[in-house]
Amino acid sequence: MANYHNLSNEALQEKYNTLQDAYEKIASQQLQLDMTRGKPCTEQLDLSQPMLDVLTSASAVKTENGLDARNYGILDGIPEAKAFFASILDVSPEQVIVGGNSSLTMMHDSIVQFLLHGVSEDAAPWVKQGNVKFLCPSPGYDRHFAICEALGIEMIPVAMTPEGPNMDEVEKLAAADPQIKGIWCVPKYSNPDGITYTDNVVDRLATMKTAADDFRIFWDNAYTVHHLTDEPDELKDIITAASKAGNSDRVLQFASTSKVTFPGSGVSVLASSESNIAFYKKNLSIQSIGPDKLNQLRHVAFLKDKATLADHMKKHAAIIAPKFQTVLSILNEKLGGKGIADWTNPNGGYFISLNTMEGCAKQVVELAKKAGVTLTSAGATYPYGKDPYDANIRIAPTLPPIQDLKKAIDVLCLCVEMVSINHLLH
Ligand code: PLP
Repeated sequence: MANYHNLSNEALQEKYNTLQDAYEKIASQQLQLDMTRGKPCTEQLDLSQPMLDVLTSASAVKTENGLDARNYGILDGIPEAKAFFASILDVSPEQVIVGGNSSLTMMHDSIVQFLLHGVSEDAAPWVKQGNVKFLCPSPGYDRHFAICEALGIEMIPVAMTPEGPNMDEVEKLAAADPQIKGIWCVPKYSNPDGITYTDNVVDRLATMKTAADDFRIFWDNAYTVHHLTDEPDELKDIITAASKAGNSDRVLQFASTSKVTFPGSGVSVLASSESNIAFYKKNLSIQSIGPDKLNQLRHVAFLKDKATLADHMKKHAAIIAPKFQTVLSILNEKLGGKGIADWTNPNGGYFISLNTMEGCAKQVVELAKKAGVTLTSAGATYPYGKDPYDANIRIAPTLPPIQDLKKAIDVLCLCVEMVSINHLLH
């Protein structure tokens, strides 16, 4: 395939004209394809349908310590759910709070608590310490950035590398500025790049010097069991690494079953040091009388243990891995070797990250929209919605049926080619 950077203007113009004809044909079909968010498809949701039938008798609604899960109580999660998540996250049940239906809510609540009450009993509230800043490895998860923006936390973008955040930058910034109170991390199959942090990155995060003694790592391990291949990435356990370095309170690890069972009806979990858990629980006691314990019971009865969960996730992979392959093979076929885009090939998670030439992503997303394909807004993967390179586009392959996915990625590739050629010509 000819690299477009080596083509004459005439050759580029000729290609553009052909592409434009194809674009107009597709646009006239009035497609309505929504690729904006990483949601499981119906077949994936069907995998967990039997979970809704597990609580059928009065004995099934008793927790293992004999409490009636239909009633108020047990603020930090039922014991069997704590044991289940502790085994998945390699911590002890005492280091776990099992919550409601959303880990994002737990992240938001943790930050609000730290702003209002500080990170511990004797720490000063962040709001009383001046301008609060967070390091934001980018591209990253748009909803993390939305939390910071809504709560007035200044975001400092840090570049992502194939190994995780650029640690030279992170260490330098965190050591220099006591106003930097935290960092967002999606350490496994990151959203959107699908990168898993290397051991070295995990160790550096766990051990680095921070100017703020109330610095916290928001370790959003949303995709910890969401492998796409039989050779999953391994992520080093940061809670142990931080604890060994004398920083046991530094890390708050979050996860949920949103993309294991039902998004919006899953179970969330926070794992951290016992003292962080105790403090979170104290704050939580003002906010809630207890979580949805019936849902926790359902989840434990259905997902059972590590091995059963792994089998269940293999069924997810069997449904979605072919969708990832479809996207990758179209990208290869249509854009490969042209020097106008590159993309990730993740071993897990929910996204493929497509990078156009600088200054092209916004136009690509607009052009695709006009042809009926809605993608996540360009820039959404950066703090304040501003991608300094205007290059990153997040592809979420899981939701559409494969035929729709093919059409959508065809349109996307067409748009990348058209916008890139325009860019090269002008
Ligand atoms: N964290 C990441 C990295 C995500 O990609 C998502 C959903 O896309 C969430 C958290 C949301 O998790 P929950 O449904 O538990 O709130």
